[in-house]
Formats: sequence, structure tokens, C-alpha cells
Amino acid sequence: MQKAEVLICGAGPTGLAAALFLTELGVPVRIIDKLPKHSGFSKALGVNARTLSLLKPTGVTDILLQDGIKMYGMNTWRDGKRIMHLDLSKVDSPYKFMLINPQFKTEEVLTATLAQKGINIERSTELTDINIISNNKAKVSILGPDGNIHLEDYSCLFAADGAHSTVRSKLNINFPGTSFPEPWHFYDLELKCALPQDQGQMLATKKGAIIMLPMGNNIWRLGGSVPNLLEYLPQECKVINTLWDTTFKVSHRVIDRFASGPVYFGGDAAHLHSPVGGRGMNLGIEDAFVFATLYANGRLAKYTRFRQPVVKKVVDQVERMSQMPRAKGAMYTMVDKAPSIMKAIFPIFAPTFGKWVLGLDHPVIPDKR
Ligand SMILES: Cc1cc2nc3c(=O)[nH]c(=O)nc-3n(C[C@H](O)[C@H](O)[C@H](O)COP(=O)(O)OP(=O)(O)OC[C@H]3O[C@@H](n4cnc5c(N)ncnc54)[C@H](O)[C@@H]3O)c2cc1C
Repeated sequence: MQKAEVLICGAGPTGLAAALFLTELGVPVRIIDKLPKHSGFSKALGVNARTLSLLKPTGVTDILLQDGIKMYGMNTWRDGKRIMHLDLSKVDSPYKFMLINPQFKTEEVLTATLAQKGINIERSTELTDINIISNNKAKVSILGPDGNIHLEDYSCLFAADGAHSTVRSKLNINFPGTSFPEPWHFYDLELKCALPQDQGQMLATKKGAIIMLPMGNNIWRLGGSVPNLLEYLPQECKVINTLWDTTFKVSHRVIDRFASGPVYFGGDAAHLHSPVGGRGMNLGIEDAFVFATLYANGRLAKYTRFRQPVVKKVVDQVERMSQMPRAKGAMYTMVDKAPSIMKAIFPIFAPTFGKWVLGLDHPVIPDKR
């Protein structure tokens, strides 16, 4: 077997996408994950137009489109009146919608496509330590399924090992940012409800905004920081079944350096933010695409310069938007105190906002740098 040129640590959506993009470019890869199988949780739902475009040549997009729900817009309600409507079908893209697909299904399609191309994830295989020897050599300790530690050298490593990245901590790279003090709650619910299943909803309550995303078959994702948020469901909606729920703290962080010697970071290992706007998984897949393209072109030195400003800007924007669910910030104040003015001015911002939601707010790889 050909020796891998790139070791990918982590088989979440970021690592899987990196393995797929590199394989398509003819680069031999090895992908490892410490878990025996991938998580079956729905987590990220929104696959945006940018991700669909990047994955199109791999065949993954066509498969995702067969299964997912197309969300063509988002409505914001206050006191039962619609005050904002974001129409994604007006965005200039072949994918004029947010595709709603649970993360485990996206991971399954990426995994199956990789397997068809001869790449299988090495599971129960954990990176436990790493030392950078030079700009093109890292010594890695890998705990294999045999229970033994194997010491191996790699000339390039893509760290996609998630929010609690071992690679980031072993290399002592800072992950600065802040966390909201309050817990956020997310539910996947089967509802008896007449709301259209091709539109997301935002319910602006006195305690903050609650987000509702359609998952098909009367299943909805509800989320936000409002305590007891199920009490604010529209009266005509009844909970039939709770399929999943989770509570977590929301942080906004960006890694100090996207690269250190032969090690490059992507996905949650490099950036974290609230699920508002559905950008997390999508930004990680974009990191993977930029990494793979620059690797194949021999331009990896530009990775940090390309990713750091894009990611910082998106994380800042998400942090500002995440004030809505917390009953804070300029937008929430307008919606709460001056809904008719908000209704009148929103159409001015809607086109730019639509592009942002679909991940089309920046070029993937800047042209002339
Ligand atoms: C409730 C919720 C809703 C969300 N909604 C959205 C959304 O709508 N849209 C969106 O884009 N994002 C969303 N996100 C964020 C999204 O889930 C994450 O951004 C995404 O999972 C990050 O993918 P990743 O591959 O970078 O990391 P992960 O998915 O965390 O994968 C990291 C992998 O690395 C492995 N690993 C870790 N350490 C090691 C090691 N030392 N050795 C080997 N393997 C290791 C882990 O086992 C794991 O499989 C949401 C998140 C949550 C919790």
C-alpha cells in the first residue's frame, strides 16, 4: 500500500471532507478516529450552498439532495405577526436553499463515498501525542486498536479533532475567545403543527428569540437560550415526541495560529461558535477544501493567511447574531421595541443576509494572493 502523505486526525465532517478532497486530487491519505463508530446525533442540520458547491464534483451533493429537506426561507414572528421574511430562493446560486440533513447522515454519505474510493477510516485509533521536528516532519504517537502505541513520522498533518483538540493542546496553541454564561437548549421534536415544512421560523419572545428548523415528517429542531423554551411554542403546535435534546454552553473562539510547522488545523479544532446561522460544520468543510487545494498546488504556506480573516469575521458575525436568542443586541431591540420599522427596513438587508446564510459571503480561495 502507498504510504500516506497526509495524516488526518479526526473523522467528523471536517476530517472526512479533507480525506475526500485530497483523494480526489490524487494525494494518498490516512484518516484516524479514536471512536469505534461515528456519533449518531443529529447536531449540525444546515448544509449550505457553499458546501453543496464544494462537494458537487465528489458526488456527495447529489446524494445529500435526495434525502435532505430544502429550506427556502426564514420567518421572524413577534406576538403572532410576521415581521421579517428571508427569501433564500432569491440568492444567486445553483442551491437557493439551506439543505436540512442531520449531521450523522452527512457523515455517513462522506464515509461511504470515501470507501468507494478505497479510503477507510481507521477507528479506535487515537493520536495521543505529537512533536514537531521540523517544518516538514512531525513525530506522532498513535494508540492503535491493538492497545499499542505506534510512533510514526508524517510530513503533513491535518488536525480535525474537534473542539477539545488533542493536537492543539499538545502543541500549546491558544484558543482565545469567550463563552456565554447561560446554558443553551436544543430539541428535535415531533410536532403536530401546521407550519410549512420548507421554512424556518424565529419566535421573538420577551426572553429572547427561539429558532425552529424543519427536519421533515413533522420533526422540528428547536433551540435557544430561553429557559423552558417549549412553553413558547405557537399555540397550534403540540409536542408528540421528543427525539433528542441537549444542553450546552456556547463559546466563540478562533485558534491563534491555523498552522504550526507541518500541522494545519480545521473545523471545530480551529473555531467554535453558536449554532445560530448554521455555519460551524460548513466552515469546517470549507477549511478542508482550502487545505486540500493548497496542498495539491504546493501553496500550503498561504493556508493561515486565507483562513484566519474569513473565520474571524464569520465568528464575530455569528457572535453578534447570537445576541437575538439572548434578548440582547441591536437587532433584538429593534424587533422587540420597533417591529414595524424592522419590518420596513429588513428587505434592504435581506439580499446580503441571504448570501451570508448560504455561506456565499466570501470567496473560497482569494484570486491574486
Ligand atoms: C446542537 C448543535 C447544532 C449544530 N448546528 C449546526 C448547523 O446547523 N450547521 C453547522 O454548520 N454546524 C452546526 N453545529 C456545529 C457542528 O456540529 C460542528 O461544527 C461539527 O461537528 C464540527 O466538525 P469537526 O469535524 O470539525 O469536529 P467533530 O465533529 O467534533 O469531529 C472530531 C472528530 O475527531 C475525533 N477525535 C478527537 N480527538 C481525537 C484524537 N486524539 N485522535 C483521533 N481522533 C480524535 C472525534 O472522535 C471526532 O470524531 C451544531 C452543533 C451542535 C452541538
